[in-house]
Amino acid sequence: MAKKSHKAAAERIALLKRELEVHNRNYYVLNAPTISDFEYDLLMQELQGLEAMFPDLATQDSPTQHVGSDLAQAFEQVAHKYPMMSLGNTYSLEELYEFNDRIAKATEQPWSFSCELKFDGTAICLTYRDGKLLRALTRGDGTKGDDVTRNVVNIPAIPRELHQAPGGAPIPQEFEIRGEIYMPFEAFERLNEERADRGEIPFANPRNAAAGSLKLQNPEEMASRGLDCVLYHFITDDNPFRTHIEAIEAAHSWGLPVSQFSRRADSIEEAMEYIKAWDTKRKELPFATDGIVIKVNELDLQRQLGFTAKSPRWATAYKFKPESALTPLLSIDYQVGRTGAVTPVANLEPVPLSGTIVKRASLHNKDQMDLLDIHIGDWVYVEKGGEIIPKITAVELSKRPENAPLPHFPEVCPDCGTPLVRDSEQARHYCPNSDNCPEQIKGRFIHFVSRKAMDILAGDATVEQLYSNGLIRELPDLYTIPPMMLLNLEGWQQKSVENFLDSLEKSKTVPFERVLYALGIRHIGETTAKAVASHFGSMDALMNASREELLQVPDIGGIMADAILEWSKNEKHRNMVARLKAIGLRFEIDESSRQKLSDSLEGCTVVVSGNFSISREEMKRLIEAHGGKCTGSVSGSTTWLLAGEKAGPEKLKKAEKLGIKVISEDDFRRLTAPGTESETEKDLFSNI
Ligand SMILES: [Zn+2]
Repeated sequence: MAKKSHKAAAERIALLKRELEVHNRNYYVLNAPTISDFEYDLLMQELQGLEAMFPDLATQDSPTQHVGSDLAQAFEQVAHKYPMMSLGNTYSLEELYEFNDRIAKATEQPWSFSCELKFDGTAICLTYRDGKLLRALTRGDGTKGDDVTRNVVNIPAIPRELHQAPGGAPIPQEFEIRGEIYMPFEAFERLNEERADRGEIPFANPRNAAAGSLKLQNPEEMASRGLDCVLYHFITDDNPFRTHIEAIEAAHSWGLPVSQFSRRADSIEEAMEYIKAWDTKRKELPFATDGIVIKVNELDLQRQLGFTAKSPRWATAYKFKPESALTPLLSIDYQVGRTGAVTPVANLEPVPLSGTIVKRASLHNKDQMDLLDIHIGDWVYVEKGGEIIPKITAVELSKRPENAPLPHFPEVCPDCGTPLVRDSEQARHYCPNSDNCPEQIKGRFIHFVSRKAMDILAGDATVEQLYSNGLIRELPDLYTIPPMMLLNLEGWQQKSVENFLDSLEKSKTVPFERVLYALGIRHIGETTAKAVASHFGSMDALMNASREELLQVPDIGGIMADAILEWSKNEKHRNMVARLKAIGLRFEIDESSRQKLSDSLEGCTVVVSGNFSISREEMKRLIEAHGGKCTGSVSGSTTWLLAGEKAGPEKLKKAEKLGIKVISEDDFRRLTAPGTESETEKDLFSNI
């Protein structure tokens, strides 16, 4: 790096500090990082380097002086019994030999290593007492963590109760076991698809998705996210085991999830072979790994080696460098999405990377461009991690051409010329002209006709053609194009016109929830549309719902409720819905498609709370199928509170206060069993 002037260094340090704080917050609190670990490490190293060069510019509040923390306000914080440190890590194999040398200096006896895949998830610490799960804490700041027990019990891999195998190791009265909660790729992709559908920014990688899910306020939503767990560190006061591997094998015999990929190595050379093998093999795994952990296997030697202030001396992590390629940046496009967000996209000299040819890469937003200090013509590093779109992670300054121009982030919409507004929450620029901005209009049509929405036979090119010929502006226009006009368009024949008209006709049978999704209301993806449609039953009910009523739909938060409210109160949208309705699109749930099981709950209003053998949604549908009605909160008009495991204490209290009967799932099943009469109902509830 060229030597900087004091002034330039001060400016760069200020920028780096600001950025690192933002990334710390994105990473630890919001679980939505916008840069990779590797990039983060590079920024941190640059700051450390500058602070070393200019000691007078190093301050106590610098991000180099404190570690990030994942503590969230909504959870109770509990002190760790044993501090939860992180491992020292390196990208260099050389340093692994040094790690080995340090151990050799400390002991005369032979030792072995446990080599383990480093699952890319979020750290968790489980405490079991008397064979039962007592508590689950996040790492937090290392001394105290967030109590996420109520969420962790929803992860199928984590047993609430342990069982000693016949002839196996006894279960200690109390112990801690630490590991990683992670999200397999399949679940990650599903989740991100749903987020993209809702117009939300997808999680950058499975780890952030796992960490974000663990901190959800709604345990039921968390349960649907497909999280998994692997445990790798057993701790107890009087450890009965001689080696780490024995302890993990015992934990496995009690029913705890452990990695099947760990191996014992009798020398550092054997450990190196393990690393080399997995550097390529790991790409075939159904989950993300970011390195290999090597631990001293003998527990007495672990104790002897002890800890530094930050990490154990008996273990280290070798991290895989993400694959990257170096290529020139040709130009930057500014793309307007259907929600109006403007995204800078880099056009690159095509370059092979991880089996594909990369031509374009995301630059995320203006802040990211400033941070990279990117110039047109720069040679840039491109990386393809768990991400869908490749990213530019760094600029190779030594290759910067002379007079390489700085790119100009547009101040007005590149499409319609409207001045952009900045959304400070997501650091994104938006075109506010949603009614008339061509890219936004076309984006809405592309979404509307897509397979998961109305499934109309029209690709991006057709939408473009219809738009540029002035045939479509608002969604209903699609249904009123005269067939003769279509025939006059380039590339259309009798057959293609017929197919198109057929698909339009067929779209009139698309169920309400998909029509709702097709409207493209911000934050309302496929899953949310389903929940909202089944809750309200019709577009009219939905458009007239209050904020409070919207919030009663499971999984609907404030942002989504506000998005629906704002959309609904727009006169244009109301007119559009009226037009689409007149065309024949479905704006009501098809009641006949709802299965009617019995009338046994006719006239009953039921509030559902807690966990059941089926999901809460299914339980509600079951109640409705038996003729009952479900509401969100306990009131004087509630007939029963159907309480499952971990029912809300507030609801139980209120039911007691109002004298509302509380019934269990078993009661409910008996109540709705075929042949149930109201007489037996009375018998049933007289002894509750
Ligand atoms: Zn625009």
